Amino acid sequence: MPAVNDYWSLVLEALRQKLSKSNFEAWFTSLDFVKTTNNGRKLILSTSSSFSKNYIETKFKHILKEAVSKYYPQVVHIDFEISNTVAETTSLQQEGFFPLQSELSDLQEKIKEVKSKTINLNQGSIIPKKNIHNLNPKYTLENFVVTGNNELAVSVAKAIIEKPGVQYNPVFLYSGVGLGKTHLLQAIGQKILENKPDSRIRYTTCEAFFNLFISGIQNKKSAEFKDYYRNTDVLLIDDIQFIAGKEATQEAFFHAFNELHQNNKQIVITSDKHPKSLGAVEERLISRFEWGIVIDISKPELEDRIRVLKDKVERLRLPLTLDQLTRIATAVDTNYRDLEGVLNRIEARIKLLPEKPFEDYELNKILGGFHQAIPMNIQIKFMPNSSDRIMDAVCKVFDITKVELLGKNRQQHVALARQVAMYLCKNELDLSFPAVGKIFARDHTTVLHACRRLHDDMAIKSKVSSKVEAVKGMLQEAFAQV
Ligand code: ADP
Ligand code: MG
Repeated sequence: MPAVNDYWSLVLEALRQKLSKSNFEAWFTSLDFVKTTNNGRKLILSTSSSFSKNYIETKFKHILKEAVSKYYPQVVHIDFEISNTVAETTSLQQEGFFPLQSELSDLQEKIKEVKSKTINLNQGSIIPKKNIHNLNPKYTLENFVVTGNNELAVSVAKAIIEKPGVQYNPVFLYSGVGLGKTHLLQAIGQKILENKPDSRIRYTTCEAFFNLFISGIQNKKSAEFKDYYRNTDVLLIDDIQFIAGKEATQEAFFHAFNELHQNNKQIVITSDKHPKSLGAVEERLISRFEWGIVIDISKPELEDRIRVLKDKVERLRLPLTLDQLTRIATAVDTNYRDLEGVLNRIEARIKLLPEKPFEDYELNKILGGFHQAIPMNIQIKFMPNSSDRIMDAVCKVFDITKVELLGKNRQQHVALARQVAMYLCKNELDLSFPAVGKIFARDHTTVLHACRRLHDDMAIKSKVSSKVEAVKGMLQEAFAQV
């Protein structure tokens, strides 16, 4: 993986594109990446003063969050450290980058106002008013690609959507990071809402559940907290693993769970581990997690990754070749979030220089951190029965049978087809001459001569090279359907 701070410059670049020059220079040029903590969930940045921290938080919070989440998708909190270098602050002020005194007091008023609003909210209701369903519109069922590793989870999701609370309850969905738990969970919520707009859907992370619970206690509004969860048709709770060790929250969750379950309200829980591996979680909760169905999303295979990539590239309208897609999916074998990270970087580069074709060496650079360099045209190599596929494609292009291709017929047309097939097996599949010889029941020197001859002919006879291209094109098409 590339070093985590490598992406910071991309975040800055994204911000530069979004903001006016003066805003960007005033507030973001001195904003620095410090580190990520909490397994990459928290990003710590350093800024020159608490004033600029407050200003960024008040004015640019969403823009900053958006840019950060593009390149650090796992980050949920952003914190600031104050570096407070006097010299730097002064020079910025001299250059007129900081706001005037009058503007400054306006801002400070604004900050006070925002703070007091937060306090008022706590004094009034503890329940968040805005965005009541809390669902991110980008996580839909339509853009969730069904692949071999998630098809079971998707079919369960569809059953829930059709009849919430009936067939599987609770559903406990677990997987490693970046494999689509949050996406699928939210997609369930959106679809149920689409079918029945008055459904009371509560999507919450385990952390938000915990915070609301604590806030209920602190503000003596525990009853309100209880009511909020009682008045729910579908409870979607994300990343339940964080409940481990939090006994009071477990207790609260236990009661909410029982009440909802008894009333046939649908509960869907996600986690990064199986219920039995959650650690410090009460046994009675674990057993409830297992009452319904426990399903996992496993690590995606190459074909799954290609399928997801293809879908995303089409949605983003990125001009990437199939060869490039295959190379990305081969190099990034971890999860879909990492794949998206790579696509975001490619998208940023393409948007930055739209006139300039996106070259393979640039892709190599982006992929460099993931794996060793990957050979070109790797896609054919990864097809199952690849040598048979090559032979089939050659037969189609040359309109001959496989028996002719493998036989002794020396007619020019058939001999050329045979050379093309040998050449592609040798070069695309990285086979040795004897290995190719075995496929065609020929001596390895015959293969060697055939390959040399074809190589030379391709350079001087466009008819020959266009046949080779036609076979390759056909193989890529076949591959696209994998
Ligand atoms: P998790 O919650 O398991 O860590 P997420 O749901 O946040 O993973 O998924 C990470 C990213 O990958 C999200 O942007 C999501 O949209 C995308 N993603 C995951 N699975 C799929 C899929 N099957 N099809 C399309 N995008 C996916
Ligand atoms: Mg998640």
